[in-house]
Amino acid sequence: MQSRVGRVTVLRMPVVWTDRHRGHAPEGGYWMGVRLAGDEEPERGDVLRDQLLGAGATIVSAPDLGPDPVLAVHDAAFVDCLRRAHAEWVAAGHLSEPGQPHVVPYIFATPGFSARARPSRPPASIRAEIGLYATDTMTLISDGTYRAACAAVHASVHAADLVADGLPAAYAAVRPPGHHAGPAYFGGSCYFNNAAASAQHLRARGFASVAIVDIDAHQGNGTQEIFWSRGDVLYASVHVDPAAGWYPHFVGYADEIGEGDGLGATLNLPLPPGTGDHEWLAAIEQLLRAAQQHGSEALVVSLGVDAAADDPESPLRVTAGGFRAAGALLGTLGLPTVFVQEGGYDLPRLGSLVLEVLHGFEERHG
Ligand SMILES: [Zn+2]
Repeated sequence: MQSRVGRVTVLRMPVVWTDRHRGHAPEGGYWMGVRLAGDEEPERGDVLRDQLLGAGATIVSAPDLGPDPVLAVHDAAFVDCLRRAHAEWVAAGHLSEPGQPHVVPYIFATPGFSARARPSRPPASIRAEIGLYATDTMTLISDGTYRAACAAVHASVHAADLVADGLPAAYAAVRPPGHHAGPAYFGGSCYFNNAAASAQHLRARGFASVAIVDIDAHQGNGTQEIFWSRGDVLYASVHVDPAAGWYPHFVGYADEIGEGDGLGATLNLPLPPGTGDHEWLAAIEQLLRAAQQHGSEALVVSLGVDAAADDPESPLRVTAGGFRAAGALLGTLGLPTVFVQEGGYDLPRLGSLVLEVLHGFEERHG
């Protein structure tokens, strides 16, 4: 049952939050060589929090859980590089030469780059080392990026703890987002994979199998890769078709189904640009059937709302009512559920679209 204050529906699940997100201020990024203003900036987190508070949500502060939850899903050398990156950038004098306040790669260790010289030498400078892990030039590192990315993982893991301790659901209102961050790479505005860390933590807390259902407009290539060969965590995503020219371009096709122990535990449902509520919701129903067939005992939702019709970052056409219906569908599983924020860049509507999903869920969840 929903509790109501006047005409306002109050969210029952806690919103896990951290102020540490503000340290991540990339001030845009380089897209096709051109510096553009970004839409994944501190304002986005604060707008989301204010809209949630305005709707009467209960905010819970995320504890500092240290590096372990990050290392549970990412390679240590990659994590260490992101930890050192900005300080080494400053120490190398790059604030004045060439006059760049953010860590940005200029050389990329693409496959085959050093194939004839293996084992390749460790790069001697951070401006090269970061190219071992960066997948684009849009995902810059500022002074507080590492701490903010860790804090987003901590909030997502804390939400998992709340659910493992008995709450039916919890929502991690985090940035930077995470689902494009893989075992040893970052990109697409993502540094560490919050949803993956949350799912991994649910496994550690005793849920034998976990489903990650990703309704962000873009496929979560990082999450897919982290669990690609594992059968205990299902990755199931609906997203705009990469074959139509959309990020992450190289990944997210329907024939990607996992391998080894993970064969059949990856499901991709790409949709054409312009897709609206009806087909999008039908795809979500298909994802949820897969979660049931997988025997999932807990659910992590990669909750991007950039499939919205007015979002600047995707061509999908989902309405507010569509998001409400998606939440209701997610609630029908009746599973302990952790929502982890991913994309969503139409700031005036960000909080309300998230609330549509969460309210829809609570109206239906047993
Ligand atoms: Zn997205």
